[in-house]
Order: sequence, then structure tokens, then C-alpha cells
Amino acid sequence: MTDYKNFNVETDADGIALVTWDMPGKSMNVITVEVMDELDAIIDRTVADGAVKGVVITSGKSSFSGGADLSMIKALFTLQVEEKAKDPAHAVEKLFALTGRMSGLFRKLETCGKPWVSAINGTCMGGAFELSLACHGRVASNAKSVKFALPEVKVGIFPGAGGTQRVPRLANTQDALQMMTTGSSLSAARAKAMNLVHQVVAPEELIPAARKMILDGLKPMAPWDEKGFKAPGGGIWTPAAAQLWPAAPAILRRESAGNYPAALAILKCVYEGLQLPFGTALKVEQRYFTHILQTTEAFSMIRSLFISMQELGKGARRPAAVPRAEFRKVGIVGAGFMGASIGYVTAAAGIPVVLIDRDQEAADKGKAVCENLVAGSVTKGRISKEDGEKLLSLITPTADYAALSDADLVIEAVFEDREVKKAVTEKIQAVLPEGAILASNTSTLPITGLAKNSKCPDQFVGIHFFSPVEKMMLTEVILGEETGDRALATALDYVAAIKKTPIVVNDTRGFYVNRCVFRYIGEAYDMLIEGVPAAMIENAAKMAGMPVGPLSLNDEVAVDLSYKIFKAALADLGPEAVDPRHMDLVTRLVEDGRLGRKSAKGFYDYPPKPAKKRLWPGLKDLYPQQKPEDLDVKVLKERLLVTIALEAARTVEEGIVTDPREADVGSILGFGFAPYTGGTLSYIDGMGVKTFVALCDKLAGSYGDRFKPTPLLRDMAAKGETFYGRFDPYGKKAAA
Ligand code: NAD
Repeated sequence: MTDYKNFNVETDADGIALVTWDMPGKSMNVITVEVMDELDAIIDRTVADGAVKGVVITSGKSSFSGGADLSMIKALFTLQVEEKAKDPAHAVEKLFALTGRMSGLFRKLETCGKPWVSAINGTCMGGAFELSLACHGRVASNAKSVKFALPEVKVGIFPGAGGTQRVPRLANTQDALQMMTTGSSLSAARAKAMNLVHQVVAPEELIPAARKMILDGLKPMAPWDEKGFKAPGGGIWTPAAAQLWPAAPAILRRESAGNYPAALAILKCVYEGLQLPFGTALKVEQRYFTHILQTTEAFSMIRSLFISMQELGKGARRPAAVPRAEFRKVGIVGAGFMGASIGYVTAAAGIPVVLIDRDQEAADKGKAVCENLVAGSVTKGRISKEDGEKLLSLITPTADYAALSDADLVIEAVFEDREVKKAVTEKIQAVLPEGAILASNTSTLPITGLAKNSKCPDQFVGIHFFSPVEKMMLTEVILGEETGDRALATALDYVAAIKKTPIVVNDTRGFYVNRCVFRYIGEAYDMLIEGVPAAMIENAAKMAGMPVGPLSLNDEVAVDLSYKIFKAALADLGPEAVDPRHMDLVTRLVEDGRLGRKSAKGFYDYPPKPAKKRLWPGLKDLYPQQKPEDLDVKVLKERLLVTIALEAARTVEEGIVTDPREADVGSILGFGFAPYTGGTLSYIDGMGVKTFVALCDKLAGSYGDRFKPTPLLRDMAAKGETFYGRFDPYGKKAAA
């Protein structure tokens, strides 16, 4: 029985069929339509084969499986749109039938009459975990790499193949809800403690233990199919449940402000499902799943957080004709706050690094930062001591520029000062081998101007990191006017090597991310000046789905940075460039030493730990305060999101961002723009450009011209267009 593409099936003398899932040409197994067809056939054949006593399913890869192929779910969206246009009455019916496929298959396995054991050798996610939960036995390896999760909620959907029904019938309800509504990962030990796996064994014991379960007489029946089954804790009608259920929606609302319909659907599935026979409960789950698949949130989140993120990570914007760059050595000049951590992430990717500063002492200080980062990772068990030492051995601190003579790429991260950067660029240029690429990590200076300091402006590019570099997944690759394809390709190859997601933007003041961020902070300044209580501003932001309030964010990036940026804008662009009321607010804070978290006071006060930060009470004395009850939170939320989305639209109109995927992914990874929207442009597309324009006009009427829709938006509204339609990333690729 080996005539399958994705599985190898071998039955031994004891009648145990070992099904090894090993998809050709893929680094990880995923559930596709073909995989489901083959699994269906395997169930039929093992049931029909009298020689088979039971089945062990495992994986031939280092991981078990990543779960359902989300491209398959994306195809469902496309189908749904087409079906709705053709036959609206039956479109949802068809979607309902399709969504039941995986759930029905797993139920077929569960009720096939022969025992199945899942032998979980590595990461087991989403649909693959649901498949394992439908097996009658589950054995997991105790290797560190074994992780379980039902992470669907993170992309706007939920475990719709029985997960919401099987987990709360095995684990206690509170743990089940917590795990599914957050999408968090479980170690094998935790999964065992939650009763989600039966055994945890050494890797070499995995298959023998799974076989033994069957040979020991594992019953081919799920506990919930036995007469008199009771869920752990007794289900819904118990004193414990009476404590849990009234609080559950309130806790969810506190955590997600009602922005994630899929998370609420999980609660509904569990609450309703636990009161029903299993088969009916699966139907309830299927109905909610069908409903969630039709939400804008699910569509936008899957597109940005899964499909686009993957495409950008794989180099969607990379010039295909340029050969892939090899990095034998990367130079970093400026071993300060940013340079040191850039050195760390580069060495973590196995690339030798030269870390240069003004003198040996300063360079050594940079390496010491890397040593601290490594020590932290070792303590947390993220890397072994040996790997940590290996990483550090790749970093050479020095003041000698000659060490750059065999570098493939040099990243400059010295002070944000044109003259300092010019002098450093000239020194690098004097030793840099021909063909090597020079990059700047500047956050404000135009790349086109900096490139003029270089002998080969076509080999000069911006690579803008975000702080903290070791945590932030995004980098902005900035193209100067003369940046050539090889410089772009090298920058993208480097970003891929250090496992971050790039967006490619054209040169402009603030590039993309910071332009958006400073609109967000600027709107909070306006609100403060109007007398909106600071706590309302911060809370409205969180209710809108932002991870950090704008005042808190300003404290993190430093209030004096805003001051410096205003000063630079006034000097470069004239008095119109900065709102004098904003300058006045920021000046007041800076003169008072309120520079942000770094000075332990800014918009917040930061008392010594364990006390928590709190908003500076003096803020309310700066401007006459409005009464909270006179303010509309919905409007505050709209203002904060709309001002950012409008700025994103402006960057598209100006040709700074050319691909909507980059605007969306950049906004979520760069500053956490309300992930349920799918990002800045999906937020606009999601409500419809016409509705967005009307909202902007309304806000402009009340709060000023900064909300006026741009000509592009008006044109798109008139034509009924979307960003993904007008700036179709796939159309462009096809044409290229
Ligand atoms: P920093 O002051 O911490 O580090 C700058 C380093 O450059 C210092 O170690 C300094 O000794 C060194 N240096 C200065 N002149 C030099 C010279 N002539 N030769 C060699 N080394 C020299 O500053 P930072 O925050 O790391 O910023 C560095 C760059 O990164 C700036 O261009 C900044 O705009 C950019 N950036 C900063 C952030 C951030 O959050 N701090 C984020 C993105 C980009």
C-alpha cells in the first residue's frame, strides 16, 4: 500500500499499519485537498484490510505538520466571491459543504472501527493537531522541538475541524478556551498535563510506544462516543462552569476589545457544543466556521499575515535576474545601540561579522551588548551555551577599517549626522572590495543624498532596522534614486538570511513606517491639545486594536526624538512643516526633562519596579480638560486608525510604497497596526474606499484638513476600486 504521493504505508507482521506522512518537495507537511483525498483512501483501505489491526500515523519530516495549507482557505474566499456573483442563494450552502470536508474526514477516522494512534515527532499545528485529536491515542516525543498549538485565531479563523469540540472534552474548559482564543503553543509536557496527549516518550521510543498502545488493546472509540461520557469538570451545568462562563466573554473583551470575531466564535462553539451530542456539536462548529470565513477580518488577516508575509519573506520584490548573494563577511560600522544588535542578528544567522567603531573600546562595548543578548538567550533556553559561544566567536570588534577589505556587505550605523556619515562612508569606501554593497541604517536621512558620498551610488541602499532589532521582524529596504538591482537583491538576500521580513520602499523623509507612526503620535498630540483625557486616548487606541497607545509609544521612541525631528523638518522644509502647537507640547516636555522611558519620565511616570508606569498627572494641567462623557470613543478610535491609513494611502499616491502587501505587512510588523484589519490598506479596502472617503470627509469637517481624502482616494471611490485591485501585486508580477 505505497501508491500515495504524500504518505508511505507499511503494515508489519503484527498488523500495525505505519502511515508516514512525507510530502515530496516540501520542508513541512501541510493539509491539502490531495492529502485529504489520500487520507480518506487510507482509512478505507486499512478498514477493508483484514490484516490491519490498527494504524500509527507519523511524519517523515523533522516536524509533524504545520496544519492546513492556508492557500487552500484563500482559494475558498475566491470561490466564495465567484459563487456569490453567480448564485448568491446557494453560495453559502456550497461554502458550508466545503468547510465540512476536513472535519468530516477526521470524524470518519475517529469512527472507522480500528484504532489509530498519532505519533507526534515534532511541531504539530492547527489541522494536524485536530487530526491527532481525532486519533484514539496520541504519543509525543519529548524532544524540545515538539510544540502543539491551535493558532488559527491569529489569522482570523478558528480550529474548525473538530478542535473546538475535542479540546474541551479532553482538557478543562478554562485551559481549552485560553489555548484556543490566544493560539498559544504548548510543550509536550504541558499537552500531557492538559490531557491532550496520552504519553510523552524519548524520540526513539515514539513508534514502539504508539504500536504498543494498539497491541495493548487500545479501544477504537473516542471517550465522547462512549455512553455516559462527561466532559472534564462536568460540562456547562456545574458550579465551576457557573463561575467560568459569565466571566469568559468579559475577559475576552478585555483582551481583544471585540475586534476578533473568530475568538468570540470559539467561545460560542465550546459553550453550545458542550451541551450537544458530538455529531451535532461538530455541525455547530461548522456553521460558525462558515460564518467566520465570510468575515472581512478572516479574509484580510489570512491575506496579510499568512500569504503576503510568506511572499515577501520569499523575496517577492527581489529582482529575479540577479544571482543570489553569499555572505562570507558582513561589516557593521557604528557599534552603538543599533549596530551592536545588528551584529548579533547577523552572527545568529551564521555570518561572520566585523564590528567597527571609533576606537577599540567602543567596538568592544558593542560586542559586550551581543554577549548580554547571548547570555539572555542561553538563560531562557533558546540556544545552548555552545551555540552561544559559536555565535560570539563570529563577531570581531575592531577599530581597523582594513578588516572590511573582504566584506560582501557593510552596514553603516553611526550617529544620525550627515557629516559623520559622510566621513565614515569615505573611510569604508577606501577599503571596500569592488562590487561589495554599502548600506545605511539611517532613520531620517534620504538615501539618495547619502549615496552621493559613495563612489558607486548604484551599490548603495538603505536597510532600516527597528528597535529592538533582535525582536522586530520587519526591515525597510530603501531605494535611493540610483540604487541598482544588485544592491536591492543583496539587501533582500541579507534580510532573508537573518530571517526578517522586508518591505521595499522608495526614498522619502521618514520612509514608510515612521511616517505612519508619527501621524499616530501626532493625532494623540491633537487630542491632548483639545483636552481629551490622556487615559482616554491610550484606551481608545487599544480598543481600536493597537498594541501600544500613542503616548506610550512616544515615550518608547523618546520624546526628544520627536523634538529633533520637528527641528529638522522646520530647518529643511520651513515653518509650515510642523504644527506650532505640537512643537509647543513637545518642547514643554523636553524642557521638563520628560524625554520618555529612558529618563524615567515622559507622558508617563516610571517609578522603580515593581511599581507600574502611570500617566503623568501633570498632563491634565497642560490643557483645559473635556469631560469624558462628552467624548465619543468610537470617533477617537476612528481618528487614530484613519490618520495612519490616510498616510499609508499618501505613500502609495507618492510612489513611495508600490505594493499593497508591503503597506499592510509593514504596518502590522512595524508598529502593530490593528492586526484584525489586515493592515493599513486592507483597513481601507475592507470598509470600501467610498466609505473610507466619506469617513475622512466627516473627520476633516470636525478636526481639520489633515483628514481630507487625497485625489487618489477620491478617484478610486468614484471608480469603485480597491488598493489590491488598482495596485494588483500579482498583475504587476505577471506583466514584469
Ligand atoms: P548610537 O549613538 O547608539 O550609536 C552610534 C555609534 O556610532 C556609537 O557607538 C558611536 O561611537 C559610533 N560612531 C560615531 N561616529 C563614528 C565614527 N566616525 N566612526 C565609527 N563609529 C562612529 O546610535 P544608534 O541609536 O545606534 O543609531 C545609529 C543609526 O541607526 C542612526 O543613523 C539612527 O538614525 C539609526 N536608527 C536608530 C534607531 C533607534 O531606535 N535608535 C532605529 C533605526 C535606525
